[in-house]
Amino acid sequence: MSDQHQTRAGALLSIDLDAICDNWRSLKGRLGAAACAAVVKADAYGLGAIQVGPALYGAGCRHFFVAHLNEAIELRPFLPTDAALYVLHGAHPGAEGEFVRHRLVPVLNSLPQLTAWQKLARELDTVLPGVLQVDSGMARLGLSEDELAIVASDHGRLQGIELKFIMSHLVSAEDQANPANMIQLANFRAALQRLPAARASLANSSGIFLGNDFHFNLARPGAALYGVAPVAGQPNPMRPVIRLQGKVLQTRRIETGTAVGYSHTWRAARPSRIATVAVGYADGYLRSLSNRGHAGFEGIRLPIVGNVSMDTITIDVTEVPAGRLGEGSLIDLADPLNGVDEMAGRAGTIGYEILTSLGNRYARRYIGAVDA
Ligand SMILES: *Cc1c(COP(=O)(O)O)cnc(C)c1O
Repeated sequence: MSDQHQTRAGALLSIDLDAICDNWRSLKGRLGAAACAAVVKADAYGLGAIQVGPALYGAGCRHFFVAHLNEAIELRPFLPTDAALYVLHGAHPGAEGEFVRHRLVPVLNSLPQLTAWQKLARELDTVLPGVLQVDSGMARLGLSEDELAIVASDHGRLQGIELKFIMSHLVSAEDQANPANMIQLANFRAALQRLPAARASLANSSGIFLGNDFHFNLARPGAALYGVAPVAGQPNPMRPVIRLQGKVLQTRRIETGTAVGYSHTWRAARPSRIATVAVGYADGYLRSLSNRGHAGFEGIRLPIVGNVSMDTITIDVTEVPAGRLGEGSLIDLADPLNGVDEMAGRAGTIGYEILTSLGNRYARRYIGAVDA
């Protein structure tokens, strides 16, 4: 990123690729013999798949998951040929040929997807790689109970397909006491029993922390790589990855009783100094952080006051000593002291949504891996 870009942009988003790689290594370290993939869908949760993917490849990762075919086609040229790239949504009808052309592995989520992939293998007179997903309790993607019964009673349905993994996905893995975890584990094991022997994959980030029984042969972490806390109610063992700094456009002094921003939702209870910062909900700074969000400047916690607007937020900087902060100063909106999980808590959402909402107006600076 050029300095000019940084001068032009209203905010600076720093993404620490070394922290992402450290997080991957620490998750892998919990897995014993199982392999550790990286989920880089949604542009690596908003942080940049073409930067994150190669960095993680450098750390040793060889299995990458995206959601859409488009995402896979964009990422494929940035990953060496020995990296496997899986598409969670599988192939839409008619798109199967693209998977072959771009060397992508579909996750086969239904009998029609399975059948279409098998048909293409027959036409090409070859064997095609695929991951088979079974639904173990989410009712979202994967073979239903009825479809599983059909495949279980006729393994010929899998002929022509090199079964890379059989997978399923957990509903509530971050909530370790939730009985859904053990129910899904039992359902998944039962499904594996009825299918041809293959390597298996169940755990997302949080699933890794549920223990060895959930590890099988491959874990598929996403959020924890990017610093989101994997276990509810416990200290976050992951390294923070992002720092978001918004630029001050101007500051003003206001009298007691002066109201700030759209709809006048905040009124000064004392003579105050307000900084207007060039980040708004169009940048993914969620409007639900109005009068709830926190910012930081040189270790001083500062409240977001008034409504978040499209391009700006207003921050009460009264506590910052005079002369220290002015036009062009950078205020921390997300950093290790005020991380994505804390922001999410204040916004009434989850860290995943904070990350994937990050806008593309920020000047982005990558730390580590790619600089090397
Ligand atoms: C998104 C996703 C993951 C990664 O989940 P995290 O909770 O972000 O670790 C793994 N598997 C599937 C099927 C997914 O859709």
